[in-house]
Amino acid sequence: MSTANTYDVVIVGSGLGGLLSGVILAKEGMKVCVLEKDKQVGGCLQTFSLQKKVFDSCVHYIGGLGEGHTLNRIFSYAGIMDKLKLKAFDRDAFDKIALGDDEMLYPQAQGFDNFTEQLLPYFPGEKQALQDYIKAVKNIGDHFPLYRLRNGSADEKAAVAGLGLTQTLQSITGNNLLQNVLAGNNLLYAGVAERTPFYLHALVIESYMHSSHKIVPGSSQIAKFLWQELQAHGGVVYRNTEVTKLVEENGSIVYAENREHERFYGKQFIANVHPQVLLGMLQTSMLRPAYRNRINGLAQTISSFMLNMVLKPGTVPMRHYNIYWHRSGNVWEATAYRAGQWPANYALFFTEDAANPGYAESVSALCYMHYEEVTQWHDTENRTGNEHDRGEAYTAFKEEKTEKLLETLYPRLPELKGNIISHSAATPLTYRDYTGTPAGSLYGILKDINKPAETQIATRTRIPNLLLTGQNVNLHGVLGVSITAIATCAELTGMEYLLGKIK
Ligand SMILES: Cc1cc2nc3c(=O)[nH]c(=O)nc-3n(C[C@H](O)[C@H](O)[C@H](O)COP(=O)(O)OP(=O)(O)OC[C@H]3O[C@@H](n4cnc5c(N)ncnc54)[C@H](O)[C@@H]3O)c2cc1C
Repeated sequence: MSTANTYDVVIVGSGLGGLLSGVILAKEGMKVCVLEKDKQVGGCLQTFSLQKKVFDSCVHYIGGLGEGHTLNRIFSYAGIMDKLKLKAFDRDAFDKIALGDDEMLYPQAQGFDNFTEQLLPYFPGEKQALQDYIKAVKNIGDHFPLYRLRNGSADEKAAVAGLGLTQTLQSITGNNLLQNVLAGNNLLYAGVAERTPFYLHALVIESYMHSSHKIVPGSSQIAKFLWQELQAHGGVVYRNTEVTKLVEENGSIVYAENREHERFYGKQFIANVHPQVLLGMLQTSMLRPAYRNRINGLAQTISSFMLNMVLKPGTVPMRHYNIYWHRSGNVWEATAYRAGQWPANYALFFTEDAANPGYAESVSALCYMHYEEVTQWHDTENRTGNEHDRGEAYTAFKEEKTEKLLETLYPRLPELKGNIISHSAATPLTYRDYTGTPAGSLYGILKDINKPAETQIATRTRIPNLLLTGQNVNLHGVLGVSITAIATCAELTGMEYLLGKIK
C-alpha cells in the first residue's frame, strides 16, 4: 500500500457538505482527500456561463449569511466569509408570491416584525395569525440546537418533528389565501401536503427572514474558496474521480476505488452522495438487506426544469426579489401536476446588469418536472467531461417545454417577449448527471411526517468508520447542509469542542 494514497479522512463527493466537512477536519490537522466525479467541484454549487453571463445551476439565494447569523458564523470559521461578495435582497420582500391569474404579488420580507408588517395590508384582519406564525417559526429554530449553534439533545427536535406543515398553517389561520401565501415558496423544499414537516418549512423560511443574499457572481464562489481553504490546510481534491467501490474488510472501510481502479486508503470515510448511490458502491455484508430495501424504497422530492435566459440590455427591469407563481390557487397541487397542466408553477430569479443598473442581464425560471417525463432518455449521460448528445427527440422535447414555459411567463412579464438573446434549458437528466442525485430529485429524500424514522437519515452508519453528510441527512439547502457538516465532523472532533471553536 502506497502512503501517498493514504489519508486520515477520505470524502466521496465535493458538494458543499463534502467540502465543508473537509475544511473543518483539515483545520483539525487531519490529512483529507475529497474525491469528485465531475470536472467542476461543488455539486449543486456549480455555475456555467452563457454569452459570458454567469448562471447558477441551482443555488440562487442563501439565508442566514447576514452579520451574526448562523451561516455567517460557520463560513467565518471555515475562513471563506470575508472572501464572498454578497448582494442583499429587498428588505421588504425577498420573495413575492403570485397565485393563478390574480395580479397581486404578496411579499415575504426580511425581519420578523417586518414580515408581518409587509403582509398586513393584504390581510388586515390577520394580525394575530401572522404573529402566531412568526412565533411558531421561531419556536422550531429554538428546538433545533445547531441552528442556534448550541449543543442540545435529540429530544428537543423530537418534540416538534411530528408537526405537519399544512396542518400547522391550518391551525394558525382559517384564511385559505393566507395559508397559500405563507407556503407560496414551497418549491424551496418541494413541499407535499399532509407529508412535509413544519420544521422543514420553518427552518428554511426563518433563515431568509434573518437575511437573504445572493453570491456574486455565482454560488460556485463558495466551492472555490472552500477548496482553497482545504488546500491551505494540506487537503486535496481529485476531480474526474468517480468512486465505484467502498470496500469493507474486518468491520471497517479500507479503501475507496474509482472507475480507473485507483485506490484511496483511509482511516475514516465520509459519504457526501445520495444514500442510494452510496449503497451501490458499498461492498460489505454489514448492512442488512432490510436497511438496503428501506433506503432504496424511499420516495424522493420531485425534480425540476430550469430555463436560463440572457436578456437584451436595458429591456427587463431588475427585481431584487424572486417571484414564485402557482397555476392553481392551491399551492399544494403543483407537485402532483398532470399532463397538460405543465408548468404548474415557477420561480423567477433575476441577475442585475452591472452596465445597466436597474435592469436585469439575465433571468432563470425554475419549475417542477416529474422524472417520468424524461425516462425515455434514462440510459443517456451528458455532462462536462462525459459529453454525449441525447439526440434530436430530446432537443425537440426541451424546445417544446421552453415554448410552454415562455407562454406561461409572458402574461406576467410581457417585457421578456422579443428580448431574450439566448437561452439554455436543464431537465431532470441534467441535474441527475451533474450531481449524481437519483432521478434528478431537487433535494433528495422526501421527509415525511407519516414516516419520521424511515425518512430521517443519521450521520452514523453500522460501519464505524463510515459517516454520512449532505442534504439527505437532516436538511437540504446551503444552511441545512452546513449544519449537517458540523454534525458529521462532530462525530470525530466532539460537538462541544467544535461549537466552541465556531463560536
Ligand atoms: C435546482 C436547485 C435549486 C436550489 N436552490 C437553492 C437555493 O437557492 N438556496 C439554497 O440554499 N439551496 C438551494 N438548493 C439546495 C442546495 O443546492 C443543496 O441542498 C446542496 O447544495 C446539496 O449539497 P450536498 O453537499 O448534499 O451535495 P451535492 O451538491 O448533491 O453534491 C454531491 C457531489 O457528489 C458527487 N458525486 C456523486 N456521486 C459520486 C461518485 N460516485 N464519486 C464521486 N463523486 C460523486 C457529485 O458529482 C456532487 O459533486 C437547490 C437545489 C437544486 C437542485
